Amino acid sequence: MTDTGAIEKVAIIGSGPAGYAAALYTARADLSPLVYEGFAWGGLLQQTTDVENYPGFPEGIMGPDLMQRMRDQAARFGARLETDDVTKVELSRGGGPHKLWVGDDVHLAQTVVLAMGAQHRKLGVPGEQELSGRGVSYCATCDAAFFKNAETLIVGGGDSAMEEAMFLSKFAGTVGIVHRRDEFRASKIMLDRARAIPNIEWLTPYVVEELHPAENGSLGHARLRNTSDGSERDVPITGAFVAIGHEPQSQLVQGQVETDEAGYVVTQGRSTKTNVPGVFAAGDLVDHTYRQAVTAAGSGCEAALDAEWYLRDNPQRLDQPAAAGTATA
Ligand code: NAP
Repeated sequence: MTDTGAIEKVAIIGSGPAGYAAALYTARADLSPLVYEGFAWGGLLQQTTDVENYPGFPEGIMGPDLMQRMRDQAARFGARLETDDVTKVELSRGGGPHKLWVGDDVHLAQTVVLAMGAQHRKLGVPGEQELSGRGVSYCATCDAAFFKNAETLIVGGGDSAMEEAMFLSKFAGTVGIVHRRDEFRASKIMLDRARAIPNIEWLTPYVVEELHPAENGSLGHARLRNTSDGSERDVPITGAFVAIGHEPQSQLVQGQVETDEAGYVVTQGRSTKTNVPGVFAAGDLVDHTYRQAVTAAGSGCEAALDAEWYLRDNPQRLDQPAAAGTATA
């Protein structure tokens, strides 16, 4: 095990818009943040094509280009980027330092910003992974404009599925909502709005069994199975949008910071403070609701300011030796 002994002022785990915004702000505050950006740096936007709703890019920007720019901007002001995954943490309840491991190397940090994001829940059916980005998408708000007059499906029965379907219906020729039950989890108001849209069709109770390519290699049809009588049907489509929820990537800190029943890290009031002193959380890791690049970047900024103010208000803690009990949520 390597222990450098140095205590970082700010360690940031994660490298989506929240992580890089926190890095930018803490770097500009002269806190020299250490960013564990992970091997697959850049978060969910790395899997996206055109981003047309991030302010400041009137022509749109490719998701990976946007993340490269955020990364470069943070690095320009002195953020140190470690392209590695944190494998274990021990958060201190006594105000730090907190311990973070990358394999056998242990690092100490006075404050930690958790920004590990969330993953779209996957269907886990044949064809889904292969056709991702070639007709299969997890974000209609991002990709709907590429499906003008197309035959499409939305999978899911919650508010996200309704919202995505309504947005998609403005572009697509038809939008079939595939849901595994006849009852919907979505709120009545959202359901009523979706039901009022003529090019939305309802496919219940069905699950997607398989997704198949057309001759051009892009999505060609979905095989659906009726969950009540077991019958199957093939639906020709060029777009399938999966909206069956998200999974926050909070496994690293489970049991150490407070999380809710869905695994999202709980923050206090309007702040990014967790229930562990000096540990802040931002972005999709805490956000059930908005989950946009721009909202994640905004909360990364908030976490940076909260960390900066914490260090300002707890100056003596910078020099404490690694000690104090480990946090349990
Ligand atoms: P959600 O409410 O958890 O709904 C997920 C849906 O996906 C459920 O209908 C579920 O079916 C289905 N599902 C889950 N796993 C599945 C699988 N493996 N195969 C097929 N179907 C599956 O998630 P959400 O819609 O993303 O909403 C999350 C939260 O954000 C909610 O609190 C929601 O109200 C909120 N939200 C609000 C708005 C708004 O008000 N404008 C918009 C979006 C989201 P079952 O119902 O059978 O479990």
